This record gives sequence, structure tokens and C-alpha cells, in this order.
Amino acid sequence: MQSLNFHPAGRHFLQIPGPSPVPDRLLRAMSYPTIDHRGPEFGALGRRVLSGIRGIFKTEHPVVIYPASGTGAWEAALVNTLSACDHVLMFETGHFATLWQKMALRLGLQPEFLGLPGTEGWRRGVQADMIEERLRADAQHSIKAVCVVHNETSTGVTSDIAGVRRAIDAARHPALLIVDTISGLASADYRHDEWGVDVTVSGSQKGLMLPPGISFNALSPRALEASKNSKLPKSFWEWDEIVEMNQTGYWPYTPNTNLLYALAESIDMLMEEGLPQVFARHDRLGEACRRAVRAWGLEIQCADPAVYSPVLTGVMMPAGVDADAVRQLIYKNFNMSLGAGLGKVKGKMFRIGHLGDCNDLTLMAALAGCEMGLKLAGVRLRESGTAAAMDYLGATAADSTRRPG
Ligand SMILES: *Cc1c(COP(=O)(O)O)cnc(C)c1O
Repeated sequence: MQSLNFHPAGRHFLQIPGPSPVPDRLLRAMSYPTIDHRGPEFGALGRRVLSGIRGIFKTEHPVVIYPASGTGAWEAALVNTLSACDHVLMFETGHFATLWQKMALRLGLQPEFLGLPGTEGWRRGVQADMIEERLRADAQHSIKAVCVVHNETSTGVTSDIAGVRRAIDAARHPALLIVDTISGLASADYRHDEWGVDVTVSGSQKGLMLPPGISFNALSPRALEASKNSKLPKSFWEWDEIVEMNQTGYWPYTPNTNLLYALAESIDMLMEEGLPQVFARHDRLGEACRRAVRAWGLEIQCADPAVYSPVLTGVMMPAGVDADAVRQLIYKNFNMSLGAGLGKVKGKMFRIGHLGDCNDLTLMAALAGCEMGLKLAGVRLRESGTAAAMDYLGATAADSTRRPG
């Protein structure tokens, strides 16, 4: 059997849009001893992360932390607020929106999947006007929740959540707003309270830079109210007991202690850099990546510049080129992982992650690997994408040793 420690020389480039590279500082924090989860030291850690994470979601209200992947937190958001056969409005932005809709079906909800025809919706963001129109037609208020994905990781599109809130308000509709920002949080601007989101779902292994293994539900007072009447079966996911015990920094079960150490450290790192600086860094890397793609003469999966994702860029292959074969070539020759095309765009595109613990040279190395791999695969490139990205990064370079504050 191949040893788990086997790796070629140098570091592997993990340029998938989650899990993102885990900084050494977080790995070190995770190696602290696992302590008694009922002891006093733990309570202090619990209170620290539960309070700190609110600053990342920009909320004054409780954030529930589950020892589960993002998918678990998706389920928690639905089962805590809804009842069997409830009608929910979801919007098709890509593969993750589709998986969430399938989950709603399995849970016995009635999801209505709104979207643009064919794969058109897989190149654009949530269309708030379509949501408004649909809610206006629902005079009986049979729709109990609107569920949208903030950063659609399968395509590289970041939707306007404030716009969805405005659409719901304009239709004077009481539906809850439930948002997945599993891959958007801590990379793209997000404001749970200001945008009037009722439940925000997120995860650890994307912008927060942690390994996979914990996930979140940020709540609103309306969501907590709805949870009192929600009838879908739940036990492990149920908010009430967790929120109650969280008040003193503890959980009803054994929490993921070592990932909570890393979470505390991650929140410190993000706050030391400053959230506005974190978002600006991601925006700038996203712009550099898109310049490279355009210089190559390839198309960006996101067709609407207003909703380009700062987290990842989807690169469409010319007709006849298998994107998965290109990815495999890059993996084998240059020890770099890129994101695969998922669902409706499988084999047609690949995704370059530029989130989390990334800087100018991380992106440049990733783009160099892509450029060499595309050439090896025989894809005809218009000009050098790495040169275009270097020009942009060089011209907008910032002092990386400067510390804000
Ligand atoms: C990663 C991701 C998920 C799934 O999260 P898991 O941790 O893999 O369960 C769901 N939605 C979006 C937008 C994601 O990026």
C-alpha cells in the first residue's frame, strides 16, 4: 500500500475551491492536546469561537457550529425551520444549488426550482426579479422559504444576496431567506444581519482555511421563532439544546475540539489582516486569474461581470477538449489539483481556486501550471495568460509586509 506520507518533492498545489490550503499556523493550533470538553479550559475556547465567528458572519445572533461537513449544515437549516410538504423556492445557479434542491426533496419538502433555461443559469447569478415575480404570485403565502447559494462553487458566480432580500420585501412576502455561503464566507463580503438573512449555512474548508469537518448555521430571531413550529424530524441537528448550552461555551455532545482550536486561530488571522483587506485580496487575485483566462483566449464560465466570484474562476474548454483530461495532465505533470466541472458542465470546464491562504505567487504558480498543461494538451492559446496576470499583479502590487492597524 502506498504510504499516506508519499509525495513528490515540493508542495502539492491544492488549487481546488475547497478544501483550500491549510496554513501552518492552523495546523499547529490543531496539534494542541485534546482536552476535556466539559472542563473549564474548554468553556473558554467555546466562548471565544462562538463569539468570534459572529464577527465573520457579521451577526449579533447565535451561530451554531456542527461537527459535520457543509452538507450537514444544509440539512440543519432546512429541518430546523420547515415542516413536511412545505413549499420552498430554490434557484438553480449550478451543481451545489441542484444538490441542495435534491436534499429538500429527500427530506419531504416541495422544492420549486426556479432558473434560467438549459445551462444559462449556470453562467449567471440568482435572478432576484424572477424570485420577486414568483413570490408576488403566491398570494396564499404557501412558500415558506427562499433558498439560494451565495457563492456557487461549481461555476464561479457570487450572487447578490441583498438583492434577493429586496425582492422578498418588495413582494411583501413572509418567506424565510436561507443562504448557502459555504464557499463564500471569509473570502467574499457577507453580511448576515444587514442583508436580513434568516439562516446562513457555511463550512470550514473554504475561506476559513480549516480542514473539512465543521460547519455552521447563523440564525436570525425569525429563524429561531420558526424553529419552534417546525415539524421535520430532527435530533442531532436541533438548534435549541445547542444554542442553550453554547451560552456557557459547551455543546450537548463531544464537539470537534481540535478543529475549534484551528477556528479560533483562523478568526484571529482574518481579523489581523482585516476583513476588508481579505476581500480585496481575493478580488484582486480573481481579477488577475480572469485576465489570464482572457489572454489564453478561453471563456470564463461566469458570463456576467457583475457577479464574478472572488473565490474561484471557471475556465471553459474549446469544443472537443476534455477538461478532465487537461486536469489529469496537470495533476500528473505539475502536482497540482484543479476543480472538476460538475453536473451539467462535467468535462466542459475546470475550476481554479484562488481562496483562503493564497497570495500573488500562489496564483502565479497555479496559472503557470494551467498554461503548461493546456499547451501539453494541445489547446491553442492566444497569448500568455501568466504574462497578463503578472502585468496586472505587478502594476497593483501592495506591500505584503505591511500590517493594518
Ligand atoms: C463545498 C460546498 C458544499 C458542500 O459542502 P461539504 O462540506 O462538501 O458537505 C455545498 N455548497 C457549496 C456552495 C459548497 O461550496
